[in-house]
Amino acid sequence: MDVISKAKILGDSGKYDVCGGEVCKPPEITTGLHNIPGIIRAKEKNGRFCSLLKTLQTNACKFDCNYCANRAGNRKSGNQKVSFTPVELSSLFNTLVQKNIVNGLFLSSGVSGDPDKSTADMLKTVRLVRHKYHFGGYIHFKVLPGTNYELVKQASELANRLSVNVEAPGSARLNELSSIKDFKNDILRRQAWIKRLRPGSGQTTQMIVGVNGETDLEVLRMARWEYEKMDLKRCYYSAFSPVKGTPFEDRRKETQLRANRLYKADWLFRVYKYEFRLLKEVMPDGMLPDKDPKVAIAEKTLAEPLELESAGFDELLMVPGIGPVTAENIIRKRESGARFDTKVLKRCGAVMQRAAPFIRVNGERQLRLNAL
Ligand code: SF4
Repeated sequence: MDVISKAKILGDSGKYDVCGGEVCKPPEITTGLHNIPGIIRAKEKNGRFCSLLKTLQTNACKFDCNYCANRAGNRKSGNQKVSFTPVELSSLFNTLVQKNIVNGLFLSSGVSGDPDKSTADMLKTVRLVRHKYHFGGYIHFKVLPGTNYELVKQASELANRLSVNVEAPGSARLNELSSIKDFKNDILRRQAWIKRLRPGSGQTTQMIVGVNGETDLEVLRMARWEYEKMDLKRCYYSAFSPVKGTPFEDRRKETQLRANRLYKADWLFRVYKYEFRLLKEVMPDGMLPDKDPKVAIAEKTLAEPLELESAGFDELLMVPGIGPVTAENIIRKRESGARFDTKVLKRCGAVMQRAAPFIRVNGERQLRLNAL
């Protein structure tokens, strides 16, 4: 099989991992090399977009994850088992870089043979990319569950970012997904190694949601634990989608809406530093309510509209439509002696349609949305 055909299959096989960044949309040009499904656009820290070749080294896997098209013995889903040699993949990546189609690599793999053998192939690829083709840009290296310490260490010396997917919110939940992966030993221990080997490098992880009855509270608790204990930079939530030929093929597809709500809730405690109990209070049944979690929390906690003339930073941040930059702008304006009206608030960055029901401006409650 030629390399482009392999790239199409292995790029497509890698699509279940949403950890690659904030994927926006594929490149608009859809011919030739641009047509590889593994080329994604991801948002960088500075807000600019980069293009990554996101691919598996192989989609052959001896593990048995019940949701995965690549699992051992799955013949029905039509996914052909193929592998790149390190020479093929590094050369393809170099061609894509030279043609300015991508400027980074996201490399994962199925576990063919054992995790160390598969990781060794991935390392050979990355060594060729770094040393033969002198690529100095971004490489995200997926550490396979169960890989030995020495290989993780080598990966940490070659890649910009390492990550391991926890997949489920805890050991019992993972046991329902796979009879082989051991949550503490194969996954958490590897995350602890990454934290030690690459402190502050921003490891990420992924959880699949809607696969086996897990609640939002379980998922968010796990994410919070990961942020605190593993120095996690970002948790990604992947809405479960059944794959033909797997034991979970008849399960219900999860909505993207649920994953989006989890991202919003995650943002509240990860970025806005909301106390976790505030989220718990709006999840009496363990599930996020059917609305923006920030609005749900504001409705519960802001019994009285907030006085803008006296509210502190943390209080302002509780108001939907007001983020940290806007909160700072409001405080700065207040300190300069400015009087507030809706125009001034808008200039500070407030989204008045969202904020209005929760604030008072110059003693007046802002309920008349049509006045805004
Ligand atoms: S380890 Fe599990 S999730 Fe990963 S490729 Fe193998 S079967 Fe799929």
